[in-house]
Amino acid sequence: MKALVYHGTKDVSVDSVPDAKIEKPTDVVVKITTTNICGSDLHMYEGRTNVGKGTVLGHENLGRVEEVGNAVDTVKVGDYVCLPFNIGCGFCANCERGLTGFCLTCAEPGSAGAAYGFAGMGPYSGGQAEYLRVPYADFNCLHLPSDVKEKQNDYVMLSDIFPTGWHATRLAGIKPGDSVVIYGAGPVGLMAGISANIQGASKVIIVDRHPDRLKLAEKIGAIAIDDSTGDAVEKVLALTEGLGADCGCEAVGYQCQDHHGHEVPNLTMNNLVKSVKATGGIGVVGVFLPKDPEASNAMAKKGQIAFDFGSFWIKGQNIATGQANVKAYNRKLRDLITAGKAKPSIIISHELPLDQAPAAYKNFDDRKNGWTKVILKPAA
Ligand code: NAD
Ligand code: ZN
Repeated sequence: MKALVYHGTKDVSVDSVPDAKIEKPTDVVVKITTTNICGSDLHMYEGRTNVGKGTVLGHENLGRVEEVGNAVDTVKVGDYVCLPFNIGCGFCANCERGLTGFCLTCAEPGSAGAAYGFAGMGPYSGGQAEYLRVPYADFNCLHLPSDVKEKQNDYVMLSDIFPTGWHATRLAGIKPGDSVVIYGAGPVGLMAGISANIQGASKVIIVDRHPDRLKLAEKIGAIAIDDSTGDAVEKVLALTEGLGADCGCEAVGYQCQDHHGHEVPNLTMNNLVKSVKATGGIGVVGVFLPKDPEASNAMAKKGQIAFDFGSFWIKGQNIATGQANVKAYNRKLRDLITAGKAKPSIIISHELPLDQAPAAYKNFDDRKNGWTKVILKPAA
């Protein structure tokens, strides 16, 4: 089969690889009809993770079930399913509590959390490919309704970014009527904005510096702040009576930059402390890693940032972090899409065949104007 393979820093190509197949009776194989490129893929693409050369990337996957293992009960050949990017077993201590982003049995020994085509999250191949092996299929497959043909580009966002944006707002503890500031108007930040609106936020403020992304922020009903035209924190404070927003979300991660493009790994975290009110919650879904050997400063190489802990403490704020537990949200978010109450496909800029994935990686990685979210159609 054809698949997008990582060969090294900024070096990916569509190659012939062995077909995905049933390896355990609890597996299914899915023919991928839609798969996305994610901001998380870019950390790997830029050589800023320990992902192995030869890995097939792709963790935002949707498709049609092609083959079913003997021990699978509820998933049938021909079903359309969306796969959470995190792979859970359903029976470990974390999965039992709904924390499927931290599965203990699917993860690498000594760690928690597994995913398709992802650094440090197990040996699973990704879905930027014609076919994908899905472990523990009864647990992991989200069944899609009959409008999947028309709404596939919405439903595919249930694999990651819509639940992840939602998770950011839950980690931040958003309540109806709250104001929220979101750093990052990439796909995840925009989904956090949509999620905040659905939950009744009174004011959604999104900070970035790319005009196309800021325009999308406005399109979803947020106040867009361009931090290349002045201090973002001051602008947030001006919009929140000098107190700061009720809560905040980090949707950028460890490669965050100042508006000149220089990496400043503590920038968004410290800006959140400054622009969220005292006692407010901060939800961090942007990825931060324990090691970053390619980072430009000594602390960041060890996964450390100079965090304004004193200001954070004196303000009595709280922080929650981590991978999204997609399964905790994906059914209900699916139902919002089915009911026409959420349309996450609004952010898609490019719909391309798999063989154009390498060029798409480059353009998305360059944050080239107009490249806001790329979806791939391997079965086209
Ligand atoms: P993206 O790279 O497309 O978007 C990030 C945006 O942040 C860009 O538009 C960039 O201009 C902006 N940015 C950079 N520095 C900034 C700063 N200082 N202030 C404000 N904005 C800044 O990525 P994405 O797909 O939206 O993902 C965002 C982050 O979320 C990534 O780190 C990704 O790995 C992570 N992620 C986490 C999970 C999870 O489960 N926790 C899931 C998916 C993605
Ligand atoms: Zn993703």
